[in-house]
Amino acid sequence: MQVPILDLKAQYAAVRNEAMQAISEVCESQSFALGPAVAEFEEKIAAYCDSKHAIGVSSGTDALLVSLMASEIKPGDEVITTPFTFFATAGCIARLGAKPVFVDVEIDSYNIDAGLIEEKITEKTRAIIPVHLFGQIAQMKVITEIAQRHNLAVIEDAAQAIGASQDGIKCGNFGDCGCFSFYPTKNLSGFGDGGLVTTNTESLAERIRILRDHGQNPRYFYKAIGGNFRLDSVQAAVLAVKLRYLDGWNEKRRQNAALYDSIFANSPVRAPEIGANNVSIYHQYTVTVPERDQLQKFLAENQISSAIFYPKPLHLQDCFKELGYKRGDLPVAERLCSEVLSLPVYPELSPDQIEYVARTALEFYGIN
Ligand SMILES: *Cc1c(COP(=O)(O)O)cnc(C)c1O
Repeated sequence: MQVPILDLKAQYAAVRNEAMQAISEVCESQSFALGPAVAEFEEKIAAYCDSKHAIGVSSGTDALLVSLMASEIKPGDEVITTPFTFFATAGCIARLGAKPVFVDVEIDSYNIDAGLIEEKITEKTRAIIPVHLFGQIAQMKVITEIAQRHNLAVIEDAAQAIGASQDGIKCGNFGDCGCFSFYPTKNLSGFGDGGLVTTNTESLAERIRILRDHGQNPRYFYKAIGGNFRLDSVQAAVLAVKLRYLDGWNEKRRQNAALYDSIFANSPVRAPEIGANNVSIYHQYTVTVPERDQLQKFLAENQISSAIFYPKPLHLQDCFKELGYKRGDLPVAERLCSEVLSLPVYPELSPDQIEYVARTALEFYGIN
């Protein structure tokens, strides 16, 4: 049985007619940049996220960048984040001339260890970017309390967590801003790049709207130095269609994860742990095993695709050499990079496929 890590064609088949109709309407309007399609999508997604404001932007990366710009992060400032995340989280900090300060992660949740944040705060610290990795929200109660005590901005990197909640609150509502990505592999994805910033602070929403369009307000009068961070109307139209399916897809991912969990219980394959107060959207179903590379090879020999998110922590990347980190500085993140393996969990998988993947993984350990 062949099991890919993701099958976007299966999702496309379910939305093809509606998506094509929506794209066609945008084409008929010939309004391609920040037109009515973007405004309509922003309204719908703000409601979905339980946020007062939603601002469509060009990518998840630009959502982070424009949120940091709106929070007035400047050269020399320090921003605390996790080393176990996609590059963009820290890349955006460095692109503004600020310094990423990496804090190690929790072995169970893979998210930033909130208990280690306070010791890294200096007089230069301006913000914290927690990442809700693989669809599970970081410990936001502790993180926002620390931020309040030290007067720091909190920008949630929710690129992998749209629809996830903690204590009944959806991500993007804990910090000052929530940053989302609609990259094709994300739980809610466009037909290309796209992103979103959510906020409940009116002044921040206004600043981000201005910054995403070069800083102009009104047209050709520049209040600030922004960029072209606009969301395409075509993407907004597709995303508005797919948004109606998102809860159903996320629920299917949870069911797939529950089936994996039940098969991996009391086995050498350590299943992802979801906190009792968290509802995950399982952007990835990521297990940890010391024999990761051999397991991945064994799965591949059995036609099962898997993926490694991420093979190298950010504090040890060549581009951050000047920050002066060395191997051993953030041991949990370093260990996870050699032990994590993400298994197929996308909504269209059949229970038979999940069972086949899980049984094959156990077969690697001689369990059947
Ligand atoms: C995908 C992702 C991003 C970047 O989003 P793009 O839309 O690809 O620019 C940022 N952070 C995390 C954690 C991501 O997974």
